[in-house]
Amino acid sequence: MPYDEVVARFEPVLGLEVHVELSTKSKMWCGCPTDFGGEPNSHVCPVCLGLPGSLPVVNRLAVESAIRIGLSLNCDIATWCRFARKNYFYPDMPKDYQVSQYDEPLCFDGNVAVEVGGLTYQVPIERVHMEEDAGKLTHVGGAGRISGADYSLIDYNRAGVPLMEIVTKTIHGTGAAAPEVASGYMAFLRDMVRALGVSHGRMERGNLRCDVNVSLTPRGSSELGTRSETKNVNSLRAVADAVRYEMMRQGAILAAGGRVKQETRHWNEGGYTTPGRSKEEAQDYRYFPEPDLVPVAPDPAWVDELRATLPEHPALRRARLAADWGFTEREFGDILAIEGALELIADTVAAGTTPAAARKWWLTELARRANEAGVALDELPITPAQVAEVQALLADGAVNDKLARQVIEGVLAGEGSPAEVVASRGLAVVSDTEALDAAVIAAIAADPEAAAKVRDGKVAAAGALIGAVMKNMRGQADAAKVRELILAKLG
Ligand code: ZN
Ligand code: MN
Repeated sequence: MPYDEVVARFEPVLGLEVHVELSTKSKMWCGCPTDFGGEPNSHVCPVCLGLPGSLPVVNRLAVESAIRIGLSLNCDIATWCRFARKNYFYPDMPKDYQVSQYDEPLCFDGNVAVEVGGLTYQVPIERVHMEEDAGKLTHVGGAGRISGADYSLIDYNRAGVPLMEIVTKTIHGTGAAAPEVASGYMAFLRDMVRALGVSHGRMERGNLRCDVNVSLTPRGSSELGTRSETKNVNSLRAVADAVRYEMMRQGAILAAGGRVKQETRHWNEGGYTTPGRSKEEAQDYRYFPEPDLVPVAPDPAWVDELRATLPEHPALRRARLAADWGFTEREFGDILAIEGALELIADTVAAGTTPAAARKWWLTELARRANEAGVALDELPITPAQVAEVQALLADGAVNDKLARQVIEGVLAGEGSPAEVVASRGLAVVSDTEALDAAVIAAIAADPEAAAKVRDGKVAAAGALIGAVMKNMRGQADAAKVRELILAKLG
């Protein structure tokens, strides 16, 4: 059904469940590293393999991160809560259960304001709870799905990595803006966990995964429709597209007098959802309090301390930086469009570079190199302080623009700091007059025609001579000084 018609006839109701993978060094219940990748089953121990007799211990930093997330979402923090076993029979969890939280979440009853097209929508938060990630199954043969596979491989490196699950209450009143409210909320979460420093917040890597619940209510009715849940949507655009697709799919079913089936669905790259399994009910998981872990009872004084040290709200910070830096809306928008660019530019400015220069380096030369290398901007092996150093060398005239790019190339190649690259590659600009003089004299002698034009007052002809000198000096001459010398000699 066309989107406009869906919106005219139905009110969408959303529910978003987001899993956030924390960036703690060690896992939720053991000391194993959480590093992404690594040889399969190399980051494991008896605890995260669920071997009999092993006992879990809660990761304090994970609890702290969960509280800080909860506070950022304006949640209440429980003074006492427990973990719960969520039983399910699937080999991605070696224990046959996931340790999670059930009716006693650590954080609850929050809210987030999401702005879309100048309007503010309230997203009420049901809970934030702590749990652990599962291992990774690779199904070999078939279409990569378990059905039809010849065999499956299991890697438990990810099993036990701390996960926070953030669940909204039902979100009403979004109307036609439902897709953008959903993606705007995800963008807020991503920026928030990054500002808190609790997660890398990379959606494409699965650090943030959204389960998108959508149902439709006929306009004028108060009855909730049957919802579908599209699992593991992992980009902002896909979150919006999944909402829109489900609204249109369900609208068509309801308009034809059909009934929407309650089920989980898969999101496909092509921009559509396909049915998954029919949805388990909570009772299927046979939750019960985890007997191997003590309750979590955060000291209110500690919670207050965490509240007092929360970072600036991402939206407020963006507004402040936009005002401080003085870019046009378009220029600032270009920064926001590249993941991680805002932080990098802010850090480069903090290291003493002007906003314009910081923006230029990160959005042109460095964005291009990140693109070529197939990595995110903030994964390039150069720090904002080093970019500031390159810019300082340029501003001092120690290098010119072309040399500065070579300095960056050297830093990215692991040749050391900008100063070390300048020294080892011999990249300093030559402004020694004697050397430049000789090159200028040679250039004039080699191109008498151009020299004659300059003498006749056609200053533009000096360009050819400057180019010849620069070429002769392998780009390392101070171009302004060369020009000065040429004009002086040709009167
Ligand atoms: Zn372990
Ligand atoms: Mn979960």
